[in-house]
Formats: sequence, structure tokens, C-alpha cells
Amino acid sequence: MPYGRQDIVDEDVDAVIEVLRSDWLTQGPTIERFEQVVAEYCSASYAVAVNSATSALHIAYLALGVGPGDCVWTVPNTFVATANAALYCGADVDFVDINESSLNIDIDLLRIKLERAEKQGSLPKVVVPVHFSGCPADMKGIRALADRYKFKLVEDASHAIGAEYRGRRVGAGVYSDITVFSFHPVKVITTGEGGMALTEDKALADLMRSLRSHGITRDPLCMQGESEGGWYYEQIGLGYNYRLTDLQAALGVSQMRRLDQFLARRRELADRYDRLLSTLDIRCPIRISHAISAWHLYVVQVPERRRVYELLRNAGVGVNVHYIPVHLQPYYRARGYGDGDYPVTESYYRHALTIPLYPAMTNADQDIVADNLKLALSSISEQLR
Ligand SMILES: *Cc1c(COP(=O)(O)O)cnc(C)c1O
Repeated sequence: MPYGRQDIVDEDVDAVIEVLRSDWLTQGPTIERFEQVVAEYCSASYAVAVNSATSALHIAYLALGVGPGDCVWTVPNTFVATANAALYCGADVDFVDINESSLNIDIDLLRIKLERAEKQGSLPKVVVPVHFSGCPADMKGIRALADRYKFKLVEDASHAIGAEYRGRRVGAGVYSDITVFSFHPVKVITTGEGGMALTEDKALADLMRSLRSHGITRDPLCMQGESEGGWYYEQIGLGYNYRLTDLQAALGVSQMRRLDQFLARRRELADRYDRLLSTLDIRCPIRISHAISAWHLYVVQVPERRRVYELLRNAGVGVNVHYIPVHLQPYYRARGYGDGDYPVTESYYRHALTIPLYPAMTNADQDIVADNLKLALSSISEQLR
């Protein structure tokens, strides 16, 4: 049993095959359809599909003007890509610790760090809250700080397509400049590899579209010279090849049809875990009144995490750990970070265990996870006695 897995049905396979037999394998009409479907679902004005969330973060930061001399702030409890994308831009990265109960960015620590940065003239250009496990960060509070300190906001919503915050879907662009989704196979929907950047700002969307394809434009309005004919394009900036294929977009469109079903099942399973694990001496995820999680992950905090992890793995239960704190990766240690810099993330990490959660999981699968977790914990407490 894995900790997460894609859910592919015949309908998905047929959608991909249809594109394979069509004229366009990449950057064709299916990309636009996928962008429209996701934008509509989230009530976003613009959506730009790319080949990964990492690429989406990179072009989002670039579009917001991040470059050498700038700093991007995020949390250490994330996948390394959130931070790495800032380094791709030649900018610096810094971190804000998480809140021990929400496991998302701690607003009080953010405020304190901003006050200090303002005095030192080192305010961030962009702050990137991560909606950890699919549960939205407190964007209203973060927006207020963005207005006060004039930084841009990117939501790393890699876990959170379909999540809701104060009655709106994540991606609606109410609180941030750009929202990024991931379509990696373990995430809520998949395109194999893939990502998307959503925004309400047409200029940002145009810029990201150009950055995903070599900095090239075919729009006469964006050209510096006159079009020389139907073949003509201009490279107006330095971009990348971050395009998603139409094969992947077809899978994405097909997956979007079942997103609500996926979310409903994930929520059902999360509620059921809450009940099954309620008698155990472990920490389960908390619920936030103004948010509905997409439940990408169900993370518990256990004593003797390494032992519990090994016992469950040996029993065939695919547990995992999210995340090894980014600042403790050798690459980031070499940039000056170390143990004790972000104590809440570090202490969370010592106990964190992601237990299996995916739409095709049955109640019987879930009972096996709960039973094995109970067994593991009781064998450990016996050893300790
Ligand atoms: C998965 C993930 C990414 C990277 O997504 P890719 O699509 O694999 O590039 C970035 N941030 C977070 C929080 C993620 O979980």
C-alpha cells in the first residue's frame, strides 16, 4: 500500500490516446482547454500550464521581478523546489518557521521578521506560503502584511487544488499575485509531470506564457518590429522550454472531471482517520474553521517516529515523511543554515509521519493502516516500559 497514488481510469487513457492520434502533441488546443477548465474551476482569470510546479514557481518568481539582490521568503517545511526556484532567479532565500498547530507559515513570526527586515532594509520581494497537506494558510492575515510591507505573494498550492479558503477556492487570486499547482502523480490530480500558475493579472500571465516558451511571442501587439509574415515570431526575453504536452493536458482535462469525486473521497478518508485514531496518543491534523483542505496528505505526529516508520513499512504500509526541513539539507547548510534555526519545523519533523491517503483507498485498507499503527505504538510503549 503506497502513501499516495494516482487514480487513472479508461476514460483518462482514452483521452490521451485521442490526442496521440491528433495533429498536436504539444502546445496545441488541449493545453488551452486544460488551462480554461482549471481557471474556471478556481474562478481564476488566467492560467498558464507548464511541465512542473517547479517550473511554475520559477516563472512566477521571474514574472514578479525576482532577480539578483532580491530575497524570497518561504517555510522550511516544504519540498525543496519552493526555495530552489528563487535561487534559479539568482535571488536569495530565507525562511519563516511554521505554526505548530496549523503546520503552515506562522503569521506572528512573519510579522516579527518583517518588522526587523524593514529596519535593516532587507524586506523580501516575494513571500511564498505553502498550503501544507492541502490545508490553506491564513491568507487574509498574510495579505494584510503584504499590503503593509509591499511584498508580492505566491501561493505554493502544490497540495491544494480544490481546497477552499473563506468560501473561495484556492487559486481564485483574492489574496495573492500568483497561485501554483502541481500535477505530479502523488498530488490531488495528475498529468504525469505538470504544473500550472494562476493569476488575475493579464500582464503577469502574458509574461509567464512567454517565459515558458523561450521568451518568444507570436502576438503582433507584443512585438518590437513589424511582422514579416505568417512564420514570424520575436524573442523578446530569455525564456525556457517549460511547455506541457497536449498528451499531458488531455490527462489533466480528464482528471479535472473527477476532481470533486477525488476530494470527496479524500475528505471522507481523513474524517475516518480522525475517528479511527482518536484513542491513540498521537497528534492528528487539526481542522481550521475558515478552510476546507484538499487532503493531499494525512500527517500524524508520533513518538519514536523512526521505529514506527520501520514497523509500518515492514508491515507493507507505505508511510512517508513530509518534509525533511529544507534549511537542513546539505546544500542549504552550506548557505549558512543549521540546526535550531527553525525549531518548530525541526521538532515537527522529528515526529512527522505521512500515512496512506488516496482516492482508491478502501475502508478496509484504512483499517489495516490504523491497526498497524496501533500495533506499532503499543510495541514501542512496551519496549519503553
Ligand atoms: C510537489 C511539490 C512541488 C514541486 O512540484 P513538481 O510538480 O514536482 O515540480 C513544489 N512544492 C510543493 C509544496 C510540492 O509538494
